[in-house]
Amino acid sequence: MSGSTASGRNLRFVIIGAGMAGILAAIKLREADYDDIVIYEKADRIGGTWRDNTYPGLTCDVPSHSYTYSFPPNPEWSQYLPPGEEVFGYFAGIADRYKVGDLVRFNQEVTSCVFADGRWNLETKSGTSDSADFVIAATVVLHHPSYPDIRGIDEFTGAMFHSSRWDHEIPLDGQRVGLIGNGSTGVQIVSALAERASKLSQFQRTAQWIMKVENGFYTEEQKAAFRSDPELLRRMQCDETYMANVKRFTDAISDANSPEIAQIEAFVLDNLEQSVRDPELKEKLRPTYRAACKRLIYFPDYYEKIQHPDVELVTEGIERIEANGVRTKDGRLHEVDVLVLATGFRADQFMRPMHIVGRGGVKLNDIWAKRPCAYLAVSMPDFPNLFMVNGPTGPVGNFSLIDIAERQVAYITQLIDQIRQGRCREISVTQEAMDVYEVKRIAAAKGTIFGSGCNSWYLDAEGVPASWPWSYDAFAQAMTEPDLAAYAQVG
Ligand code: NAP
Repeated sequence: MSGSTASGRNLRFVIIGAGMAGILAAIKLREADYDDIVIYEKADRIGGTWRDNTYPGLTCDVPSHSYTYSFPPNPEWSQYLPPGEEVFGYFAGIADRYKVGDLVRFNQEVTSCVFADGRWNLETKSGTSDSADFVIAATVVLHHPSYPDIRGIDEFTGAMFHSSRWDHEIPLDGQRVGLIGNGSTGVQIVSALAERASKLSQFQRTAQWIMKVENGFYTEEQKAAFRSDPELLRRMQCDETYMANVKRFTDAISDANSPEIAQIEAFVLDNLEQSVRDPELKEKLRPTYRAACKRLIYFPDYYEKIQHPDVELVTEGIERIEANGVRTKDGRLHEVDVLVLATGFRADQFMRPMHIVGRGGVKLNDIWAKRPCAYLAVSMPDFPNLFMVNGPTGPVGNFSLIDIAERQVAYITQLIDQIRQGRCREISVTQEAMDVYEVKRIAAAKGTIFGSGCNSWYLDAEGVPASWPWSYDAFAQAMTEPDLAAYAQVG
């Protein structure tokens, strides 16, 4: 089949973002015989999250063999949980192998995307204009750093940066380092810097539940076996134990009162009880909310490293930042040379601040004023032929976003096919289907563990979990084939 419609019109695609999701979308569109594809990327390299995040200790907490696309398994992973630079290398290698780089226009940040006369018209910051039949927004979720609004932050005279904008020019060895935040990122940074900094002060606002996970190395013999035995490698990639755990986990999070959540709670509590000696420190590290309410942290040695003599866990609230350090509410000044802000991301932004205007002048900013939403996380009414990968209300949790993205791209490709086959020229979810989905989703989301009473980036501005509230199987089922009755097909 060609990339043209039945009437011979060649279909043109713009993909926004050359990270995991954008690379995937390009590969899959080409496989479906579409050849007019361009990827706009605001940075000068591919890689998305794995390009932006280079902090010491960066590790993917999804097992390496499960953190790949389904199509080319990778025998070379060094560890059970892969270091960030290896993950970046994996995506760069795939982009090379599938010649995705040829499609990318680097240093081109899309600023505007307006639908008119059946096409999307795009502008970039540097003044490039383009138009396309389809836009695939592969900007994903965690890419806009969230900077803390702490009094005096601009007065600090040492080096200060967000964890996703690490300044590798700044020396760390023998330095006094302050670290604000103890999410997945902060925990990994503690582990990497505990033995390097002369003093590492981690400022914790809310304690975290930590699931202990071993992170063994693959031996050369194992890697040789993966290279020579495709069946073995395929089994590693489709690890049944891991997939069973993912399903158990998604069943658990969708019901805050499930026995699986109770089991997770028992594991993380046992980890805390067994790993921390000092009773006072143990209490500081003990969360007061349910396990998995915030994204569960899987990590081997955080409790060990936080007990290192050169590491201090500071739980007194931050009063202000001063020229030489961080002053806490008890009046103490914690002097630091380097201040790292591991304060997370603005998870409600997605493609914004792009100016996106759909059919009839409908503005994305207006329809997302209350909360970002999208039918099954991929389509929005009045934004025809614009689809999102890992968009709002998709499954996010402690599992691979790659698998999610593959299912979404396969689903989106089927919608695009409606147009290729000449059944319509524009396709987007109906307002009615969108509304029914959102009402059901919000009701279910309130009963998930994410809504059980803690603060996290999963919550929208009204405190409702913004993610897919049902099981993994329900998501996989929803992505199998679009229910065309839910879609308005125009033209
Ligand atoms: P995060 O989970 O949102 O954590 C942000 C941390 O900063 C929290 O500890 C938060 O405290 C603290 N914080 C924010 N503003 C603050 C302020 N004004 N004063 C004091 N503390 C403040 O961010 P993250 O650790 O970067 O992780 C974000 C997500 O990225 C993860 O949940 C995960 O999905 C992804 N990630 C994944 C991996 C992986 O291995 N796959 C690794 C890193 C990150 P509160 O808890 O009190 O709000």
